[in-house]
Amino acid sequence: MATHFAAETLVSYPALGANAMTYVIAEPCKGTKDTACVEVCPVDCIHPTKNEPEFEKADLLYINPDECIDCGACVPECPVTAIYDEQELPEKWTEYTKINADWYTANR
Ligand code: SF4
Ligand code: SF4
Repeated sequence: MATHFAAETLVSYPALGANAMTYVIAEPCKGTKDTACVEVCPVDCIHPTKNEPEFEKADLLYINPDECIDCGACVPECPVTAIYDEQELPEKWTEYTKINADWYTANR
């Protein structure tokens, strides 16, 4: 039985990754970009940071969906309520799930 369980675990990991939850930064970050969320993220998955070359030209900050552990620590830090669990994004900002992910495709 132990061998069977291990095989199942190996097979299921890619599926879990593809369906993993993430938090998303939406439109209110534009023009604010104070990086308060960066300071509290335990896995450093919010970029660009102030020290990175992309910071000045970035419209907002972005959460890496492959690294976010869905802890929610960043949410109360945001002064403009820009950060949401992707499942709770206001409908007018649902495109930001892709916008956050695409930034990492283009810049990492
Ligand atoms: S939910 Fe947690 S891991 Fe994800 S970006 Fe916010 S602080 Fe980082
Ligand atoms: S705390 Fe909010 S406004 Fe500040 S950088 Fe993060 S998402 Fe943008």
